[in-house]
Amino acid sequence: MGLGSDRGEAAARVLAAQLRSGDNVALLRHAMNLFGLIFLWQVFGGHGASSRLSLFSVLLILSIVLNILSCSRRRSSGYGGLTVADLRSQGLGGLLHGLLWAGCMVSMPTGHGPAELVAHWTLISCVMVCGAISFAATPLAATGFLLPCVAALPGMFNASGQLPLLALATSYALSLLVGCFIYARTFTRQHSASVQLEEKSEVVSLLLREYDQGAPDWLWQTDAARRLNGVSPRLAEMLGVPASAVEGALLVQVLAGSAWDSGLFPAGLHGLADHLKRRESFSNVVLPVEVKGLTRWWELSASPRYDDAGAFLGFRGVGSDITEQRESAERITQLARFDALTGLPNRAHLRDVLDQAMSGGGVGRTANCAFLMIDLDRFKAVNDTLGHQIGDKLLSQVARRLRHICSGSEFCGRIGGDEFAIVIPHSGPEHAIDRLAAAIISGLSTPYQVDQHMLFVGASVGSAVAPQDGVEPEALIRSADLALYRAKSEGGGMHCAYEPQLHAQAEERRKLELALRDALEKDQLHVLYQPVVDADSAAILGFEALARWTHPEMGPISPAKFVPVAEEARLIGPIGEWVLRTACMEAARWPDPVRVAVNVSAEQLTHPSFIAAVVSALGQSGLDAHRLELEVTESLFVNAAAGSLKILDQLLALGVQLSLDDFGTGYSSLGYLSRTRFNTIKIDRSFVVGASNNKAASLAIIRAVVTLADSLGMATTAEGVETEAELAMVRRLGCRKVQGYYFGRPMSAADALTLFPRDPLRASA
Ligand code: C2E
Ligand code: MG
Ligand code: MG
Repeated sequence: MGLGSDRGEAAARVLAAQLRSGDNVALLRHAMNLFGLIFLWQVFGGHGASSRLSLFSVLLILSIVLNILSCSRRRSSGYGGLTVADLRSQGLGGLLHGLLWAGCMVSMPTGHGPAELVAHWTLISCVMVCGAISFAATPLAATGFLLPCVAALPGMFNASGQLPLLALATSYALSLLVGCFIYARTFTRQHSASVQLEEKSEVVSLLLREYDQGAPDWLWQTDAARRLNGVSPRLAEMLGVPASAVEGALLVQVLAGSAWDSGLFPAGLHGLADHLKRRESFSNVVLPVEVKGLTRWWELSASPRYDDAGAFLGFRGVGSDITEQRESAERITQLARFDALTGLPNRAHLRDVLDQAMSGGGVGRTANCAFLMIDLDRFKAVNDTLGHQIGDKLLSQVARRLRHICSGSEFCGRIGGDEFAIVIPHSGPEHAIDRLAAAIISGLSTPYQVDQHMLFVGASVGSAVAPQDGVEPEALIRSADLALYRAKSEGGGMHCAYEPQLHAQAEERRKLELALRDALEKDQLHVLYQPVVDADSAAILGFEALARWTHPEMGPISPAKFVPVAEEARLIGPIGEWVLRTACMEAARWPDPVRVAVNVSAEQLTHPSFIAAVVSALGQSGLDAHRLELEVTESLFVNAAAGSLKILDQLLALGVQLSLDDFGTGYSSLGYLSRTRFNTIKIDRSFVVGASNNKAASLAIIRAVVTLADSLGMATTAEGVETEAELAMVRRLGCRKVQGYYFGRPMSAADALTLFPRDPLRASA
């Protein structure tokens, strides 16, 4: 009957459905009632039943009105807040109706014959069917209505003695009642099930909504046809469209965006579509999604849903926007694989590319490929003179040019500092590498405009080709490095290909370096002194101190060989300082104004403690500063720091003399001469030899240098004069000082001392 005490929210909703179902067909019942009323008036109106009919009519219309009122009250409340009382009042309405009709059944006049009885019964059965239909979902009202009618049936048929008809009519009416009960039970069961389902989905949507509001991710679900349903506000927001626009749309189509038309789906979408088709769970499927014209990256996970009977309902899962994480991961990869300053692949990346290129020859075989190493010439000078900012801008421009020079198959990167490299997989013939190297050298040597500065740097290239110059990447890199070293040591601005003897030379340098460290500790070095004389009078003006190294096994080793090794191994500092102290101590024993000239490497001169070392050597020996001459070469102005000019000024301020050694062999720019106040320019032996052979260029250079030196108030020393003819020639050309085997080879300190007339004071002392 629906009058139980368990009245939860679900029961209230079932109750509402029951009442609504009755109300929906109330009109039919009312129409039937009115029709019945008219019919009764037609049949019995003329048989003296008018007063009873009138009373019945008024009461029936009143009950109809009452029913309409309660019906409209329920409708206006939207069937909300209904209770058992509403069911009871509907039952009461049914009972009222039933009683009215029962009254009508027993009070209509009888005995007029079977025609009236059949008409009466037909009307009553129609009314009962209509009542049963409209009260079918509410057994209380159905019972209230039908039972009085059943009870009135004997009254209706008894008078006419139609017992079989009475039995038939009673069983008919009772069947209607039973039918109502059966229908009502099915109705309430169905409705409770659907209410429960609705409740469940409401809970889920509630959860979805709550989850959506708080989490950066979102939940989504599809139906069995893989169409989105229950699109949450958050999902709609992420898609950049209103929820209604995608509700019911195919998930794959929504995710594909404009690619849906072109059919060019990203790989992630293909994977997702496969999972959906196979109805299998998937997690962390990453795919690009177009949102408002921008590509976002989504990560989706979901599982298929089934109902209790095992029928597939669709998918439910979570999604998250991982664009930011992806971008930062990409940035990290970018940082790890690319050089931040130039954007070129970095050392590690280059190494990977080289590994790959070399392993392309099949199992156990090294593929043919080339590795080029590039080093900028004179970059350090730019960095030191103009600062790192300008240096960095220059490197960026170098990278740009390199990228431009390299073709698609040539992979260039920055190893670090001013060093770059190129990997050429499947490298062609040797001349192709030569051509590329030449293009790099000329491309990188073209002047650079950085801010307001015009910068000139050059490039040196070393190359090695696999498999002949190295089977392993490590070996190939080392070979290219050795070739680069060769290119640099030959003056830079050139390309050297690897040759096997470079390896031997490098090994020799390494051994020499070890031996030199040892020599320093074991005092295997000594200094020889070579006289410098006045070109006219041949009077000794001074001596040049020249370092010597005699190795116990290797014998005498030329400074031309060990000085560069010492410079590279940063041993020139201690060696140079030792030579300086020794030479000063020795020179202090020579008569004033005889000088001692000491060679100073650029690396040594720019060392922060150099000035202090000079001051200390002079102080310890007691030598007058003007009797010390320091010989520097032009390389100082090219490679060394800008600070070197300042150091030269400080040395001049101490009273020390400066000479420019080997003039003409290096960069031969007369511009250097104006930068500082050299006391002497030393003309290299190669020009002296050239001039004595009447070489026009050598003669011209010596003449020009002498003229320039004279005009700047500097002296000139001709180096390496071996013969009388050479002496005569350099005299003629105007050189004021001469040094060479003709006047004396480098000699021991003791021998040098014997060249001076014995000082009577000292002799007697
Ligand atoms: P340098 O300063 O130009 O020294 C002159 C070189 O010419 C010396 O070679 C000397 O022995 C050589 N020489 C002198 N007269 C003649 C000649 O008539 N004919 C020929 N053929 N050669 C002559 P050395 O001693 O082998 O020195 C070579 C270079 O090593 C020097 O060239 C200098 O640049 C460097 N050096 C020598 N000692 C030192 C040192 O203590 N410190 C530094 N930094 N460099 C040094
Ligand atoms: Mg010298
Ligand atoms: Mg020299």
